[in-house]
Order: sequence, then C-alpha cells, then structure tokens
Amino acid sequence: MTRPVDPERRAAGFIALELHESTHDRLVWGMRQNRDKAVAGVPEWEELREMASRIKEHTLTHLDHYLEQFEKSATKLRTHVHWARDAEEHNAVVYDVLNAHRVKSLIKSKSMLQEECGMTPYLQQRGIEVTESDLGERIQQLSDEPPSHIVVPAIHKLRTDVAALFAEKIGTDPKDSDPHALAEAMRQNARPRFLKADAGMTGANFAVAETGGFVVCTNEGNADIGASVPPLHIASIGIEKLIPRGRDLGIFIRMLSRSALGTPITQYTSHFHGPRRGGELHVVLVDNTRSDRLGSPDFWHALKCIRCGACMNTCPVYRRGGGLSYGATYSGPIGVILDPGFDLSKYRELPFHSSLCGSCTDVCPVKIDISDQIYKWRRVVAAKGLLSFAKRVGMSALGKTLAHPPLYHSAEAVGEWALEHLPRFLLYNPLNPWGKHRELPAVPRQTFRQWYIENRRKP
Ligand code: SF4
Repeated sequence: MTRPVDPERRAAGFIALELHESTHDRLVWGMRQNRDKAVAGVPEWEELREMASRIKEHTLTHLDHYLEQFEKSATKLRTHVHWARDAEEHNAVVYDVLNAHRVKSLIKSKSMLQEECGMTPYLQQRGIEVTESDLGERIQQLSDEPPSHIVVPAIHKLRTDVAALFAEKIGTDPKDSDPHALAEAMRQNARPRFLKADAGMTGANFAVAETGGFVVCTNEGNADIGASVPPLHIASIGIEKLIPRGRDLGIFIRMLSRSALGTPITQYTSHFHGPRRGGELHVVLVDNTRSDRLGSPDFWHALKCIRCGACMNTCPVYRRGGGLSYGATYSGPIGVILDPGFDLSKYRELPFHSSLCGSCTDVCPVKIDISDQIYKWRRVVAAKGLLSFAKRVGMSALGKTLAHPPLYHSAEAVGEWALEHLPRFLLYNPLNPWGKHRELPAVPRQTFRQWYIENRRKP
C-alpha cells in the first residue's frame, strides 16, 4: 500500500514562516475578490454557468462521438493525432516524435496534464533539455518543485524567496527582490533558449470537435513563442477538454479569466488550426484515468473542470496551507476530488484537508458539486478501510455521541466546563493542533440550544 501524503505536516512546514501564510492568504484571497468584482459586471453570469455546465455534460456523455469528430477534423488540417491510454503512453508518444526529429532542446508552456504524466523528468532522463517558458512555472522548475496553483504556479513564494533562487541559479543580485527586475532577469536568461529550441510543447484549454482546432490561454504569450518559433509543436490534450462547436468557445472564454484572476480575458487567447507554414503539429489525446472517472456516477462531474483555480482561491484551507501541502499534481478543492482518482491509498488524507464550507461549489464556473464530491471521497476512504486509526476511533466516538441527544448534551456540558476551568497547558498542547495558531473563542454564557428553548420553543 502506498504511503499516504500528510497534508497537515506539509502545511505546517509552509506556515512555519508566518509571512508565507499571511502573504499567500492575502494574494490568493485578492484573486477571489477580483473574481467577485468581474462576475458582478456580467449580469448573465448564472446563465453562463448553466450553459457551460450543460455543454460540458453533453460533451462528456457523448465523448466517443466528439473525440472521433475532433480527430477527423484535425487530421484534415494536417495535424497528426495520437492517442494515449495513460501517462506512460503519453510520454512515449511525445518522446518518439521528438526523437524522430532529433530534438535536443524543448520549450514548453504550462500544462497540468504534462505535469500529471511526469513528462519533464521522463524526457530529461532521455537526454532532452526541457525549459519551462511561463515565469511562475520556470521558478518552480528551478526550485525543483511542482506548481502550487494551477494558474499562478509560484504564488506561494515571497519575492525574497525568488530573489534568493535567481541569485543562486542565474546569478542575479540576492538583495534585489524588485518583481520587474526579477522578471526581466529571467527574460534575458530564457530568451536564448526559446530561440534555439528544436521543439515547443503546449497544453490546451479547449479543443473544438467541429473544427479540429484548439485554444491555449496564457498571460505571457509564452505558449505562442513555443508554438511559433521552433518548427515542431506538440500539444498534450486531456480528453475532457473537448467542446462541440467553435461558437461554444465564447461562453468558456468569458468565464475562464474572470473566474481565475478577475480579468475579462487572458492576455493571449491563441487558436491553433493545423501546423504553421513549414512546421509540423502533433496532438496527443490523453485518457490517464479519465474514462474510469467518466464511468463513476459520483465523480464524473469533476471532468467538467476548466482549471480556472477559483475553487482554490476561495478555499480557506488552501489559502492558509499553500498548494504544495497537498503533495500532489492538483491542489485545492479540485485536487482533493481529482487526486484520489489517481491513487486512493496515497491521497487518502486529502478529502479531509477541507472545511466542507461549500465556497468552492459556489464559485465554480461550470457548477461542479465539489464539496459533495469531497464528502463522497471521505465515504470511499472509510469504506475501503483506509481511515487512520485516530480518525476511526474519533469518528466512531463522535458518531455515537451525535446519535444520542442525552449523550451529546452531557458532552456539551463537560466541554463547556473544561474550556472554562481546565488549566491552559491542558488545552493548548501538542495534542491540540488547532491551538497552535489560534485562541479558542470564549465560551458563551448560553448555548444556542438553551437560547432556543428559552426564546423560541412553542409552549
Ligand atoms: S473545479 Fe471549478 S472552480 Fe475549481 S478549477 Fe475546476 S472549473 Fe475552476
């Protein structure tokens, strides 16, 4: 059985420096607030959500048809279409194409699917130099860390962290943490690699069955360099990225950047229809557990995800603990419902790394029932006997207490007394992780139940 990741321990490491926690929370919550302002400017937002959700559900329930249509349309555009059942096949297909073209250096833009497949180390082990072209993703590559957010991969880093990293890796002044200077230093460092790369790789935000084209959204234009400068372009596309028609794109494009960053549209929304003149374009359509998920009545809705990150930005657990605490490719609420589908044993703790407040479900532009799915994953973990000993014992005791009102009221009374009278060291000790970072609230004089009996209960 795979050793489970321990998100609490990992989060504790991240927030050991208090500034990490407060800065991350402020920045990520800022994106959520920007999203709210942007959404308020679109009166038909709820209609768009409904339409987006229905289009995705329709596509997913007719996926065989749309995948074949995409393949046919893309082939007509002289795009080479490949199929990959899993990560291993994806990486092998990519390597074979690169090898056939004698590629030695590759630039790639951010792709969570390539991350999911472990593509970069696979190619590096085979002698291909891989350079991330997105600034945040490059920071993560130089740190030897996966992205901590699906839209802003290095959001967990302070600018002083980046200054120290760049000083070590590309020789900048460690005292200069000005973001513009750091970005410019990286631009100067990376540009020669972009210009001499033998091939470029991208992911795709949407693939259109009707036209055989696909769309890549970035804010730095880095995907466009990768797709236009080298003669060879390979795009990895998860099979859930399909939408039926070009006209459906308008709905998703309007929602993606507003949900992610609160901006009306990404700086670059690039459409690819066949190879550029004199070039070659390959598309790899990847399953990697998506078909299994599609067959699951409880979890198939997760495939509607457009990777906007809004659920992460609103999640109180993600905001405080950072994305790397999940120890997985996907973090935040979307990670909690995707990662166990890849390896339940390894990610069994993630469904408990959530407050189940439901805010993720409220902001999701494609109406994924995220918090319901988190709860359902908890049930799967319990049913498979994967709960930790402490959770098994604690939940069994809690279940019995909550199921017996007299027992519950007695426990409530004991708890109140304990909070008021026990010495501090008995309440704030290593057995109470909550107490490490916060004071428990003062016990109210009257419980809600007592107040209700006194004020509202009918005689
Ligand atoms: S689950 Fe919804 S809110 Fe979260 S990243 Fe996916 S589309 Fe965005």
